[in-house]
Amino acid sequence: MAVQREWFDKDYYAVLGVPKGSTEKEITRAYRQLAKKFHPDANPGDAPAEERFKEISAAYDVLGDSGKRVEYDEVREQAASGGFRGGQGFPGGGFGGQGFGNGGFGNGGFEGGDISDLIGGLFGNGGAPGGGRGRTRRGRNAAVRGSDLETTLHVDFLDAVNGVTAPVRFSSDAQCASCKGSGAEPGTVVNVCSTCGGGGQVAVNQGPFSFSQVCPDCAGSGRRIATPCSACRGRGIEMRSREVKVKIPAGVSDGQRIRVKSRGAAGANGGEPGDLYVVVNVAAHEIFGRSGRNLTLRVPITITEAVLGAAVRVPTLGEPVTVKVKPGTTSGTTLKVSGRGIPSATAKSGPGDLHVTFDIVVPKTLNKGQRAAFEALAGLEDQDTRERLGL
Ligand SMILES: [Zn+2]
Ligand SMILES: [Zn+2]
Repeated sequence: MAVQREWFDKDYYAVLGVPKGSTEKEITRAYRQLAKKFHPDANPGDAPAEERFKEISAAYDVLGDSGKRVEYDEVREQAASGGFRGGQGFPGGGFGGQGFGNGGFGNGGFEGGDISDLIGGLFGNGGAPGGGRGRTRRGRNAAVRGSDLETTLHVDFLDAVNGVTAPVRFSSDAQCASCKGSGAEPGTVVNVCSTCGGGGQVAVNQGPFSFSQVCPDCAGSGRRIATPCSACRGRGIEMRSREVKVKIPAGVSDGQRIRVKSRGAAGANGGEPGDLYVVVNVAAHEIFGRSGRNLTLRVPITITEAVLGAAVRVPTLGEPVTVKVKPGTTSGTTLKVSGRGIPSATAKSGPGDLHVTFDIVVPKTLNKGQRAAFEALAGLEDQDTRERLGL
């Protein structure tokens, strides 16, 4: 902690012996001269020289990095003007996540605040010692894609057949209502990151190679928030119950998973939202069943209809149709009515069929006339069937 506190108490410009407005070149030149002079190799066993060398290195670590230098200047300026006011955050970003409520930094004091968090948040890599609070600047400010969500929607049979637009309700990270997801206190501006010019990437030269890496000053977001939104602490998201209207295509089947792009959890710090997956649970119908795109229907017929044949009216999703029961139909016989199944979401494949299955209903009780008729029939029946089978 003590080491951290030292950080902006120290005048790094004085350490390197350069004026505050020095150019990068001037700073580098001053550092090289001093480093050479106080390098441990040149001063074996000289403890004060070693201490001085460390100081010089620490100073250059900050002033030699344009991004860190800007923040260092800003923080020192703030400190000088007694400006660590609660909830204000710091220009240049980096302090939005925690907020320093209760005026903890007023009047130049740090009572109640957590300075290690403040510093740790500022330079990320420096890390705050102990306590597990050393979330790096990158971790706190980086744009994070929202998570994908999955929810179940119950629809009734006919809605699934015809398609429906239905609301699904759930709780998730959503765009902060106060700042509309910008992360900036309403009425304040979000600046373009000066280090990367808003691109979120910076070029790094390493010997003959040059490659780009995530901008260390904005963690790739390309933005700098001067005053973080107080409602969401600058993350641009808040947990909220939401309602999303989902278009269920005609002919959706039970268990089908529908992806609704970008309607998942909101991303933090300007990150992309995740996707929403809606698993459709289709309720059973009173009379119709489904088999893929085909509609199924069981139709009871009488013994005489089965034996003699008949024309039977059956319901469909539209107008009823008449189907023919052939003479000698057995129980479980299925016939197909073309094009009377589930409509297809894509016109190309066309609708499915209606499969009608006949169930012969055997009467449990008979009135006198029926009994007499059955008895007369029994006298005329061919009794040889079982005999032929050797039973
Ligand atoms: Zn907000
Ligand atoms: Zn940047």
